[in-house]
Amino acid sequence: MPIKSRVRTIEHYPRPGIMFRDITTLLKDPVGFQLLIREFVGRYRYMQIDKVVGIESRGFILGAPVAYEIGAGFVPIRKPGKLPAQTVGQDYELEYGTDRVEIHTDAILPGDRVLLIDDLVATGGTALASVALLQTLQAQVVECAFAIDLPDLGGMARLQALGLETFTITA
Ligand code: 5GP
Repeated sequence: MPIKSRVRTIEHYPRPGIMFRDITTLLKDPVGFQLLIREFVGRYRYMQIDKVVGIESRGFILGAPVAYEIGAGFVPIRKPGKLPAQTVGQDYELEYGTDRVEIHTDAILPGDRVLLIDDLVATGGTALASVALLQTLQAQVVECAFAIDLPDLGGMARLQALGLETFTITA
């Protein structure tokens, strides 16, 4: 597993009992980073993607080089209050409390073929809220892609239950 073996797990971060998958060890390794981006680029190069949408903040690190390589635009989905122009937002539930994601209303044109990308899917709450934003803007969500899936937390299954296509790195 040349890609996944470069991800390190930090126990009890950010809270006791959490096993945090730390992708910085993958990203700092030139071979690992290249293998990761190439996996996505190989899959999406000919899927006629108009926009790659990356979720703050690690989704930016993966989404930008993929967008560049496949000839798509890059669009950020951000935490509240970070985007300067008119936005649309979506709240979602966390284990304790709620969070929110936002996107510029003019970032997506109706019918745009969009690839949603983030480093990791756990419960799927962040990705589902992001998909809701994209659907509000009438995007065609071609696929939701992640470097890492934590299947025990059910996020990928929740996305699939909505009829969304999903992809995760297996190498
Ligand atoms: P979810 O909304 O699916 O429960 O959580 C996924 C979001 O939280 C993603 O934006 C992801 O970056 C972040 N996240 C949650 N757990 C981890 C983890 O163990 N490692 C990393 N790198 N990100 C995580």
